[in-house]
Amino acid sequence: MGSALLSYAQASALVAGYADRLRKVRPSSERVSLGAAAGLVLAQPLLADRDQPPFARSTRDGFACRAAEASAHAPLKLVGTTRAGDAPAGPLPKGSAWEIMTGAPVPAGANAVMMLEHVNVAGNKVRLLAPRKLKKGENIVAQGAQARAGDELLSAGTVIRSAQIALAAACGHASLQVFVRPRVAILATGDELVPVESSPLPGQIRNSNAPMLAAMVAAAGGEPWILPPSADNEAALDHALVQTAEADLLILSGGVSAGKFDLVEPALARAGARFHFTGVRIQPGKPLVFGERPFGELPFGELPAKSARIVKKKSRKQCFFGLPGNPVSSAVTFLLFAAPILAALAGSRESTPRFALARLSKETDKHGKPGLTRFLPAHCTFGAAGELPEVALASWQGSGDIAALARSNCFLVIPEEASTLEAGAIVRILLS
Ligand code: AMP
Ligand code: MG
Repeated sequence: MGSALLSYAQASALVAGYADRLRKVRPSSERVSLGAAAGLVLAQPLLADRDQPPFARSTRDGFACRAAEASAHAPLKLVGTTRAGDAPAGPLPKGSAWEIMTGAPVPAGANAVMMLEHVNVAGNKVRLLAPRKLKKGENIVAQGAQARAGDELLSAGTVIRSAQIALAAACGHASLQVFVRPRVAILATGDELVPVESSPLPGQIRNSNAPMLAAMVAAAGGEPWILPPSADNEAALDHALVQTAEADLLILSGGVSAGKFDLVEPALARAGARFHFTGVRIQPGKPLVFGERPFGELPFGELPAKSARIVKKKSRKQCFFGLPGNPVSSAVTFLLFAAPILAALAGSRESTPRFALARLSKETDKHGKPGLTRFLPAHCTFGAAGELPEVALASWQGSGDIAALARSNCFLVIPEEASTLEAGAIVRILLS
């Protein structure tokens, strides 16, 4: 790696290219019940088991008829009733109509449905109110209009959310073949870190990055595996790196700046790492490290580590990210760079990170460092339909400010060439 740091655009292009290569390796898969499928990724296309809809379906409560007869406004004789759930009925005799409910199969011979609100019923006769006309097919969804039996409705690589679960259920899939989630080792580093449960001594802080990153890993489609934090010394780091050598992805936090006890990079180098970049011109998160190292085998006598869960090719390497330890830096760099790699390992075709446009409600200050793309905690009000969301910077005390991070719901992107952004400007936000 040369000494010049990559710009945000260069680093994100490099990561995107790497993610594309990872996508060529198909992860292993397993079957899960529909109820456990949310957030996972389809490993097989989802096929329609029968025509959708399976029968010509009325979309209204009303009267099935022949459009031409109804449009002539002659009284049509009522000859039957079909409720939702009834078998398809008919045939419909000439000059007649058939009472029908929303969702019910249209009787054979009918080609349109008059809405209840558009007719006059007298005794057992129904008549479309003039001057209204009825078109062939009106208020009917034809059998197979959405899909034919055997059609591919969703492709492999689709992330399963509520709508995909509904579709799978409609097609009779009580379980789905999904990709096994990649196992992501989370290794916080720092002599100052103590577990959440303990009372920190003076100078100590609680390890908040590990649970934060675990939540981000889970949201991005991985299975988090939190390791005990490593102390800032060579032996502890070397040991921890051996323990994590079989994870599908390794996320370290802390120890990548230029300080005397920032020992993560040399430890990774000792573990055989190749670095794709060691620093990006962004703020916060500049010292971020991205690289790969050979998958490891545990030396005899070591405790069994959790092994990689997705297909491991001999040629493949373990990707790692060394995220700067400040919580806001960790969060931003995970979203920007680790999440796309994780999505690729998970077999997902969804593109990430996600950006959106918003209107800036208040001018940003002028403290920007030129040449750095900034991603600052912000709060966005996703306003009324048809209006742009409004975004404002969160007030924050720098990249250690977890409270500001927790009160924000996105990051305002300040391009590297801009020193300030005006109120009212259309700006980009990074969605968290
Ligand atoms: P480092 O990147 O190791 O130089 O750490 C930068 C700052 O982030 C320091 O103030 C650390 O105490 C803090 N920090 C590092 N790791 C964590 C962590 N796991 N949880 C919360 N804060 C952290
Ligand atoms: Mg540290």
